[in-house]
Amino acid sequence: APVVRLREVAKRFRRADGTVANAIDGVTLDVMPGEFVVLLGPSGCGKTTLLRTIAGLERADEGEIDIHGATVFSHERRIELPPEKRNLSMIFQSYALWPHLTVFDNVAYPLRSRRQRYSKAEIAEKVNRVLELVGVGELGRQFPGQMSGGQQQRVALARALVDGGDLVLFDEPLSNVDAKVRETLRRELLEMQRTLGFAAVYVTHDQHEAMELAHRVAVMGAGRVRQLGPPTEVYSAPTSRYVANFIGTTNEIPATVQALEGETVVLDTPAGQARGIRASDGLTVGDRVVACFRPEYGIVDERREDGNVWDGIVERVLFLGATSETVVRLGGTDQRVRVTTLGEPAHRDGDDITLFVPAARLRVLAEG
Ligand code: ADP
Ligand code: MG
Repeated sequence: APVVRLREVAKRFRRADGTVANAIDGVTLDVMPGEFVVLLGPSGCGKTTLLRTIAGLERADEGEIDIHGATVFSHERRIELPPEKRNLSMIFQSYALWPHLTVFDNVAYPLRSRRQRYSKAEIAEKVNRVLELVGVGELGRQFPGQMSGGQQQRVALARALVDGGDLVLFDEPLSNVDAKVRETLRRELLEMQRTLGFAAVYVTHDQHEAMELAHRVAVMGAGRVRQLGPPTEVYSAPTSRYVANFIGTTNEIPATVQALEGETVVLDTPAGQARGIRASDGLTVGDRVVACFRPEYGIVDERREDGNVWDGIVERVLFLGATSETVVRLGGTDQRVRVTTLGEPAHRDGDDITLFVPAARLRVLAEG
């Protein structure tokens, strides 16, 4: 059974000028036990609002929320449990440990603030056990200010897990940390989540963070989940231009649908006829569409039967270190595409080349 189950959850805010913003616009999503789900999207798309709605810090206007199999919110059935009865923990930006409390007291805090009291011995046992679990058993007497970022992260996790919720909500915990440290903390968090096996809903606007941490990514836009799937799927099989452009970069070639042959779409493009695969629902012959491919799926100077071969001229080559980027203008058109290759560039500005893009990699997406 899912740890979190969202059904058509909606949340509106009334703005100062009296208009209404649909911060969450009908979100349906399950999070399974031990699963790490990342909510990814640009600033203002509703990530924090969705997290706060799950936690009970915001009241949804529509829909239903179950946590650990119990309904904690239902608009229709007029159910609304307060945050402290939802059996989850929330971790905010920068982990927010109390600087004037020891590690032990920071972690003990959720236990002491419960109405149902634990004895001193019970608290000591639970706190020490969870500190051991996250690998900082010896730090109980220290203050957060004396510790490294990695240790602080572990203490924050201990505090989130001490009350046995098994569900942790994270709101961009690493966004104020500089890049190098962030990478280390991310690896450690990944390691701990996979080892300890709690379920996580993790908000970020950083696609690399999402790709690395997630079992599944929910790509959000304007209050909706635009696509939900494993990182490999949302990256290599986007179902909308929005997702294709938000995760990674993509080449877009405007085209018209000439014919549909099963999953294959025959296209009319400025560079001639092309074959791609159907990636949006409801495409019909005559539709204006966009043919998309990732820069690393274009291969220069290769000709194969299973795809598209276009003539082109190299306009610019950029050496980026690990990779090179080649800007190619497709023969006889103004259409430019980017191709990424490993290592040093094999071409120079002005070279005549051919560009091969496998049909399976050319995704045909609805224009809007
Ligand atoms: P994100 O976390 O993805 O950046 P938020 O959930 O913070 O996005 O915000 C989503 C939308 O809801 C934004 O348009 C934001 O301005 C609006 N919003 C969020 N909180 C409030 C609030 N308390 N009152 C009014 N509007 C809000
Ligand atoms: Mg936010």
